[in-house]
Amino acid sequence: MRYNKKKLFIEGVSVQNIASKFGTPTYCYSYSKLKENIINFKKNFKSFSPLICFSVKSNTNVNLIREIKKFGLGADVVSKGELMMALKAGINPSKIVFSGVGKTSEEINFAIEKRILLINAESESEIQVIEKIARRKNKIVQIGIRLNPNTDAKTLKQISTGKSENKFGVNSKEFFKLVNFCKNSKNIDLQCLSVHIGSQILDHKPYEKMLKAVSNIISKTKHKFKFVDLGGGMGIAYNDKIKQLNYKRYNLAINNFLKKFNTKIIFEPGRSIIGNTGSLISKIIYIKDSGAKKFIILDAAMNDLMRPALYGAVHKILPVRKSGNISKNIYEFVGPICESTDKFVTLKKYQKLREKDFLAICDVGAYGMSLSSNYNLRPKAVELLINGRRIKKIKNRQKHTDLI
Ligand SMILES: *Cc1c(COP(=O)(O)O)cnc(C)c1O
Repeated sequence: MRYNKKKLFIEGVSVQNIASKFGTPTYCYSYSKLKENIINFKKNFKSFSPLICFSVKSNTNVNLIREIKKFGLGADVVSKGELMMALKAGINPSKIVFSGVGKTSEEINFAIEKRILLINAESESEIQVIEKIARRKNKIVQIGIRLNPNTDAKTLKQISTGKSENKFGVNSKEFFKLVNFCKNSKNIDLQCLSVHIGSQILDHKPYEKMLKAVSNIISKTKHKFKFVDLGGGMGIAYNDKIKQLNYKRYNLAINNFLKKFNTKIIFEPGRSIIGNTGSLISKIIYIKDSGAKKFIILDAAMNDLMRPALYGAVHKILPVRKSGNISKNIYEFVGPICESTDKFVTLKKYQKLREKDFLAICDVGAYGMSLSSNYNLRPKAVELLINGRRIKKIKNRQKHTDLI
């Protein structure tokens, strides 16, 4: 996104025109940005050419997954629905990994039928269910075991997943036990150790610690893991002050790890692939003066973008037309939903706004639309993919008749 003569553009298209033509709220994605992210991600780790499995939960739009697939990426899924969507997008099952602490027998059965690369199991009970279904089908199922390395990802506590108090993965003691269980099973082929310590990680040190923990475990098990799945979690810059993750250091740590272990690395990035490609265009319905501050009441709400309400995430908001006139008021950007947490951000300094102005909420490509809901019976937004001057509608706006 950039300004041209004070007008906001996504690639070659003016946001004002998008809003007038498609209405608001509207999700827009930039194809060029998506392409750039994927190419950069690959470049960062090119010395060991990992299998990159896009984390579908970050964005489940089938057209976007299709574009991502064209760059050779696989998929990381966490439900039968996401697995079906990845398959619908044409992703080869041999590039799909399935994570999650509560896979049902039905989901496991489906994953086995589709012959996906790995079911990353997260408990003894789950492995027993996999083994039972595999035995019944007389099949050998490739699995991974997710280790909880008890590593602090130094990110928001709501999106940390690698500490012992989190529900994810198994501890090292349990891990050894499960490796033995798998070795004694004719129907389970243990191929992978997987980890994923959290999301929006900006410090490479937690990744280094995680690799150390993984190293220790693999050395002790003496099992030959064909794959080590390091998960995703790479953070993005939601504001200009954020220091980007040092990919060089992370890459270096992995290269050192690979000197000890001959294995194929898998990544499961979501946010770092799709996060900064998306923006949510919204219109100001009303401006309400409460004395202490002015409420900027948008037509986008927490049902469209839940991250601020869910874990206090802050997204940049840009005016679609820059005026240069700074307001003297404190602005609180809120949605119309009947919840006090339906609030995006409070800003002390912003340009003077008027009712009916358009705004763009930035970096909503990941965990934006995929976390959206119909709360307050609000239809979901339309999704557009921008490529140069072209606009492609990649999902229709829901209608009230779809809901009622
Ligand atoms: C959510 C999730 C990811 C993706 O995380 P990002 O922070 O979006 O990269 C990867 N792996 C697993 C197991 C996940 O649950």
